[in-house]
Amino acid sequence: MNDLPPFSHTPADEISSVHDRVVSSFLKHKTRTIEYRLKQLRSLYWGIKDEEPALTEALKLDLGKSAYEAYLSEIGWCLNDILFVCTNLEKWMKDESAPDIPLTNLLMRPRIRKDPLGAVLIIGAYNFPYQLTLGPLIGAIAAGCTAVIKPSENAPHAARIMQHIVEQSLDSEAYRVVQGAIPETTALLEQKWDKIFYTGNATVGKIIAKKAAETLTPVTLELGGRNPAIVSKNADTKLAARRVLWTKLFNAGQVCVSQNYVMVDREVLPAFLHELGVALKEFQPKGAKDNEDYSHIINERQWSRLKTMLDSTNGKVIYGGHADKETLLFEPTVVQVESADDALIKEESFGPLIPILPVSNLEEAIRTANEVHATPLGLYTFGTNAENAKVLAETRSGGATMNDAMFHASMPTLAFGGVGDSGQGAYRGKSSFDSFTHRRSVTQTPGWMEGMLAVRYPPYTAEKLKK
Ligand code: NAD
Repeated sequence: MNDLPPFSHTPADEISSVHDRVVSSFLKHKTRTIEYRLKQLRSLYWGIKDEEPALTEALKLDLGKSAYEAYLSEIGWCLNDILFVCTNLEKWMKDESAPDIPLTNLLMRPRIRKDPLGAVLIIGAYNFPYQLTLGPLIGAIAAGCTAVIKPSENAPHAARIMQHIVEQSLDSEAYRVVQGAIPETTALLEQKWDKIFYTGNATVGKIIAKKAAETLTPVTLELGGRNPAIVSKNADTKLAARRVLWTKLFNAGQVCVSQNYVMVDREVLPAFLHELGVALKEFQPKGAKDNEDYSHIINERQWSRLKTMLDSTNGKVIYGGHADKETLLFEPTVVQVESADDALIKEESFGPLIPILPVSNLEEAIRTANEVHATPLGLYTFGTNAENAKVLAETRSGGATMNDAMFHASMPTLAFGGVGDSGQGAYRGKSSFDSFTHRRSVTQTPGWMEGMLAVRYPPYTAEKLKK
């Protein structure tokens, strides 16, 4: 890691030439063959594998992330995605024949080709810098696109090692890294792309969508949301407590799919709070401070934002509450709040804050979830099968997990994405390939059918109408 040059922003005047290079490379059609795509993917696989220690170290430096989480949700995640794509790519690339076609039309071989969209821009976020930047890149390579990735400047060590890997492993004519923050991303958005894939907050998502609309560029937007968790009176409180707590210990809650608040039926509230305390003691026996397993908050700006949220709550702190600006530590903090208008529920915390909102019944929980945010990224429900089914039937969300939290987002073959203002488009597994693929409808009319088809030509005589 120390051998690498320090993180530095790409000079603004280089950005248009980086763009032009990947565009012209796409137009040479070299990224289209399966051999080329597999070669790039395999090379990326080994590039990541060779740099595992540096990748782990970078996450430690940026986020204080443990090696365990680094492998589980970042390094191993990307490696597995590549293996899955390589195993299935040939099948995905094949033409699909059109379904339910009348016999005469079958002679024209109606089918769908899988064409790459072209030269694409991928903008990543800081919390899982590899999976959120290299993950979409894997899809873009698989689809036969060329690409520029713009890692988050807020995880600079991760950004630097990703650049190194891309430069060492991939065809530099087709895959490039631009480093930087708002000015560099703005310069990238001035270019004409064939797709923009953005992960991050909704405010910037709107900037991206507006800019892309000027040139009718398609976008995938992977945004955030105020995800609810619901614990019904029939839930297994111990299980629910352990599982929701885990989502806030993982990466110190800097996870787009962690629940933002937990609504708990008053009947089981004491038991649930007790179990949260028991689980916290088990998962962090010596507390959060100096805990190698527990990440810190990415930077002072985000730490201060969380601290302001905590200071603004009208709720009662049940566990935690300590935060240290110098080390960017933020304890997992359970707060019992009285209203959905509380500062901890109104905003997405994107950190280890766990507001608990007591509710009188499932109907109230569903109503509140829909009022707080009609289309969150994730939704979690703990109860009987019938209760969980009711919650699913009466709410909307990008994805959902029943009797657990976040798990729908961890399935390598399940499409992941938001709905409404939590995002549009999806990826992972085949969806990553689809996300960068144009499904091009094609037919082919044999010359010998001319006699049969001549009826279409004018003049449209009365005799032709009879046929
Ligand atoms: P971030 O600070 O890393 O920013 C994300 C990207 O946006 C960066 O590459 C950054 O350079 C770029 N950016 C920032 N301001 C910009 C501007 N004005 N114009 C153009 N680009 C700009 O991360 P963040 O946005 O703070 O991430 C946290 C948010 O992202 C949360 O809301 C979280 O829920 C969401 N998120 C969603 C997913 C998902 O998969 N749906 C994953 C991670 C995070």
